Amino acid sequence: MSFELPKLPYSPDALEPFISAKTIEFHYGKHHQTYVTKLNGMIQGTQFENAALEDIVCQATGGVFNNGAQVWNHTFFWESFSARRNTAPTGDLLGLIERDFGSFDEFKAKFADAAINLFGSGWAWFTMKPDNSLAIVQTGNAGNPLREGQVPLLTCDVWEHAYYLDYQNRRPDYLAAFWNLVDWDLVASRLP
Ligand code: MN
Repeated sequence: MSFELPKLPYSPDALEPFISAKTIEFHYGKHHQTYVTKLNGMIQGTQFENAALEDIVCQATGGVFNNGAQVWNHTFFWESFSARRNTAPTGDLLGLIERDFGSFDEFKAKFADAAINLFGSGWAWFTMKPDNSLAIVQTGNAGNPLREGQVPLLTCDVWEHAYYLDYQNRRPDYLAAFWNLVDWDLVASRLP
């Protein structure tokens, strides 16, 4: 069995002007594809040869984990966006955000702070913990909160390759743009 690069659920220019088609060409077409290709090469003849991607993310170490988690993380990242512009949570999810963060604005400020101030390469996550409380967590490099038993609801890729073509060193500008793309109906669909 081998993994394939999942199709994007929108056209490469659908996220303009916030994420350019050029960034999609490299970030999705080159970086994400390379993680898929490397993972397939690494799992041949190992215990993970026929494993589900989630099992690789939760159980693997070293290069198999790094490439497997990067495949999972990027797919999850791309599948958080749409051209529908559902840019605010509603219903049960909004109620949970207000319960645990005070307001959606306070949540956004805390999430952006985690993303902007993560040192080096990694991911900012919005998760639900096993006790059903909501959390904002940072992971370095390929890290993924599934390994701590948390349910990922949303993530932001803050590796420089995610924003350098469009925003150069300005990670805060990339975060400001990110909020225009998140489809909160998709985020709500990930609640357990
Ligand atoms: Mn990336």
